[in-house]
Amino acid sequence: MPQQADDTKRCPGCKRVLSLEHFGTDRTTRRKHKVTAHCRDCRRERTKARYASSPEMRERIARTSREWRATNPERNAANYAARRIHRRAKILAASARVRARRLGVPFSLSDREIGLLQSRIERGTCEITGAAFDLGPGRRFNSPSLHRKNPATGYQYGNIQVVCTLANAAMGDWGEQTFREVAEAWLT
Ligand SMILES: [Zn+2]
Repeated sequence: MPQQADDTKRCPGCKRVLSLEHFGTDRTTRRKHKVTAHCRDCRRERTKARYASSPEMRERIARTSREWRATNPERNAANYAARRIHRRAKILAASARVRARRLGVPFSLSDREIGLLQSRIERGTCEITGAAFDLGPGRRFNSPSLHRKNPATGYQYGNIQVVCTLANAAMGDWGEQTFREVAEAWLT
């Protein structure tokens, strides 16, 4: 077996040699590194598979969660409010991630940046037209959306404008300047 760098370990599940932060902490292990045998990805897959195939496990988790909510109503309400606040940007980021993969453009939004996008959504107006956002469900002309200033640069924080769906569609691949010129020609 080839000698491995001291801060890496081979996962017996996926056979990849990974740096230690890809593994969970396990202080009780007798292995050299105090980390779990399998990498986080493999452990997540295994948990997902167990959850999908075990009604008992699903019921146990649902019951624990129900009991926690019943005994911690204030914290449950606070958690719900926090989730609600971060929801819109998360939903937009999730579909942007899928779209980026389909289009073959980069996606690099971190949780922190998604939080920043959320506060831009909560300012309540389109960053191009100034139109008020409608944050109701469904896709409306003034629902918030993520516009790529340079389409090929993809979903990187500095390349994103939070704009209404209408402006986003109108700009398409042509960008803000073209949209502005057409709008001005139209209205003058
Ligand atoms: Zn693995």
